Amino acid sequence: MAIEPTTTTAVAAALAERLIGHVIAPEQPEYDSARRLWNGMIDKRPAAIARCADETDVAEAIRFATEHDLPLAVRGGGHNVAGTASVDHGTVIDLSAMRSVRIDPSRRTVHVQGGATWADVDRVTAPLGLATPGGVVSETGVAGLALSGGVSHQRRRDGMTIDNLVSAEVVLADGRRVRASADEHADLHWALRGGGGNFGVVTSFELRLHELGPQVYGLNVAYPIEDAARVLAGWRDAVADAPDELSTAGFIWSMPVDDALPDELRGAPYAGVVGMWAGHPDEGERATRELRELASPLLDMSGPVEYLDFQSSLDPFFPAGVRRYWKALYLDGFSDAAIDTTVDWANRRPSSDTLVIVRHCERSDGPRGRRGRRVRRPQLRVDAQHRLELARPRRRRRQRRLHARVLGRRSPVLGRQDLLQLPRLVRGGRRRRARQLRRQPRPAGLHQGRLRPGQRLPPQPEHPPRRLTRPPPQPARSIP
Ligand SMILES: Cc1cc2nc3c(=O)[nH]c(=O)nc-3n(C[C@H](O)[C@H](O)[C@H](O)COP(=O)(O)OP(=O)(O)OC[C@H]3O[C@@H](n4cnc5c(N)ncnc54)[C@H](O)[C@@H]3O)c2cc1C
Repeated sequence: MAIEPTTTTAVAAALAERLIGHVIAPEQPEYDSARRLWNGMIDKRPAAIARCADETDVAEAIRFATEHDLPLAVRGGGHNVAGTASVDHGTVIDLSAMRSVRIDPSRRTVHVQGGATWADVDRVTAPLGLATPGGVVSETGVAGLALSGGVSHQRRRDGMTIDNLVSAEVVLADGRRVRASADEHADLHWALRGGGGNFGVVTSFELRLHELGPQVYGLNVAYPIEDAARVLAGWRDAVADAPDELSTAGFIWSMPVDDALPDELRGAPYAGVVGMWAGHPDEGERATRELRELASPLLDMSGPVEYLDFQSSLDPFFPAGVRRYWKALYLDGFSDAAIDTTVDWANRRPSSDTLVIVRHCERSDGPRGRRGRRVRRPQLRVDAQHRLELARPRRRRRQRRLHARVLGRRSPVLGRQDLLQLPRLVRGGRRRRARQLRRQPRPAGLHQGRLRPGQRLPPQPEHPPRRLTRPPPQPARSIP
């Protein structure tokens, strides 16, 4: 009998009949916690959340959404700030029950299911002195991070996460399952490594492993906010020729309001440098000395640390449920004038929790400019967050002005800005290859029908439920 669900309850019930995994409907008590995303600004109400048990469930959920003309979203770790892991009135493929991690010693790779977090991966690999480049907050999902690049603490030595993607198991838009690697569906493999998303649902990633740890050298120094410009300029110059083992960032933020801190530091704004030496801690201590002496530090928390602990050390600073508005771009350079603007606006940022951070991403074999000079193109992020109240319109306006002034396309101070993909910058010199690949047609079977997983959808009407019926059959079109 054909299923014609007309309410959200009916949608969930019809979908549940086809899956082994659990389907959560709006009426169920766990619905609110299941639909919640990391960014507290996002409040979407899907018709059904399909907590898939395996690849067959994923394929079945995709087919269901296509048959019933339902918008579809895919949820890995649910950390995407724009909230693209959910969709109003549609189906969410929630991969949080698919989190297994398995090492393949012969290939020196790790197989990670699409719903795993970086904590799941590090827990398995770190005790063996191995790591694949992942996120710097361990609760972030592997899938969304890997498919959007992946900037890690070891980025300059081992590249981005997508540089380490050996193969992927993908369920395509028509429900077919394929493996993408350098030898099979090579164009899909390329597309997953920075092609912009929407190529299918990745149910498993195979990632290359590198020797790392168990101990590394963690860099984390706080300087007085009054020294911010000097610290950022000193950081920029000190890391320009640093070995690839060292990946760092300069930033402006506020101290937590924490009893462990002296009174005068609680909640105080400061300038800092943070990073990791992906090698022996003794070498890290030597390589970071200059960065620890850029001014007179308020706090220096640097030192040898277990890689596993370092990977989760930032978790408490990025709790779920806070309202956030984040933006980032790549700069052509970081001139003194750009530093002054950044510091000036950072001092007037809309909330004390707002983080302004500049990351050094380029490898030492990265592109060179005129006369063989190294081209420095750091990544600048402005991560606005409001813990206490809903972002008020006035505060939101200030926040947008900050983004426009510091990150806007026509910023007169920061010069021509490079909005290109980081992979290009990290690998350097591969522009032509990337351009050629971008021109290639995408693999057959992708982008079929109306299904575009993860795509931002046009605004939906305020009041569910939408009437969910199959579209009427279209008359066959004849080709003259
Ligand atoms: C606290 C925090 C720290 C971060 N740190 C870093 C960092 O160190 N380095 C870095 O590079 N980025 C970082 N990011 C950005 C992060 O990479 C993105 O937010 C990423 O989207 C998170 O992945 P997720 O799986 O949790 O996201 P989700 O919100 O679940 O998914 C993100 C997007 O990917 C799609 N997607 C998810 N799973 C799949 C899948 N299996 N197949 C196909 N599409 C899928 C979703 O539909 C969605 O469009 C950070 C973000 C946060 C919030």
